[in-house]
Amino acid sequence: MRPFRYLTPASAEEAIHALATSPGKPRLLAGGTTLIDLMKLDVEQADLLIDITRLPDLREIRADGDALLFGALVHMSDVADHPVIKRDYPVLSEALWRGASQQLRNMATLGGNLLQRTRCAYFRDTQFPCNKRVPGSGCAALEGINRGHALLGTSSECIATYPGDWAVALIAMDAAIDTLSPRGIRRIPVAELHRQPGNSPQIDHALAPDEMIIRTLVPASPLGKASTYLKIRDRESYAFALTSVAVALSMESDRVLEARIALGGVATVPWRAQKAEQSLIGKTLDEAAARVAGALAFEGAQVRPQNQFRLPLGINTVVQALMIAKRRA
Ligand code: SF4
Repeated sequence: MRPFRYLTPASAEEAIHALATSPGKPRLLAGGTTLIDLMKLDVEQADLLIDITRLPDLREIRADGDALLFGALVHMSDVADHPVIKRDYPVLSEALWRGASQQLRNMATLGGNLLQRTRCAYFRDTQFPCNKRVPGSGCAALEGINRGHALLGTSSECIATYPGDWAVALIAMDAAIDTLSPRGIRRIPVAELHRQPGNSPQIDHALAPDEMIIRTLVPASPLGKASTYLKIRDRESYAFALTSVAVALSMESDRVLEARIALGGVATVPWRAQKAEQSLIGKTLDEAAARVAGALAFEGAQVRPQNQFRLPLGINTVVQALMIAKRRA
């Protein structure tokens, strides 16, 4: 690992000031579960780590009122195991439970979780060309091993999958983040945080270099109770999604009043499937209707020989998730 300097600011404002004014490549350090790995691999070349883990004001959890609130330094396990979240918003709890091993859930923070970087093996191996790591160098995955790469939101420059689960559940619940920078606080819908690769795959998200997430807000909603996060993977733990689905429903008897569907593990960003949602409004939710929604969720998917199996798998996952949420409605 390259040498780096280490700073322990006393406040979020001090952390932001250091981030904004330090030359080189300063990085915020929270749980460190992605950043330190990438530094060891020389993919991240941080020369200053600004350790925010001791900041006092970013650990709040609020699970009542008009909005749930999660401070950026709240650990995944704190929300996964929270009794109110488990009861009233299973989609949030399940996304975190299925998002990492127990050790990682205890270490990783909710702010950092949103900004985790792709698990594309070529991105993490500096011997291979990768437009996300070195813009303009090429994409080894296009003709390489791409079984786990994205079907939706890809470009000719990058087909890397967004690896997280938490953000997928959050966009289904219309969540937003608050960020802090030298320009003050701003609110960003989570659905607008991540960027599709287009022709600049090196830019993962909408945050400025001197901006940090300070909290996540989830509007209180009765849809939370009839929700689920279903994740399909090669093995039942410590694996990334082959496909995953966040669903939340409002129903009157068997009829759908409102539906939220978001896909994970299959797109370059957390993927809200609004056309699929619309197809269910006013309909009786049976397997046929769920299958139509599943097909619409994957409309426009670009498959490759190695990952084409994930298209029917993804549609089936939408169907199963809708049926689970229906039983909870
Ligand atoms: Fe890099 Fe994206 Fe290609 Fe992976 S898919 S090698 S991250 S450019």
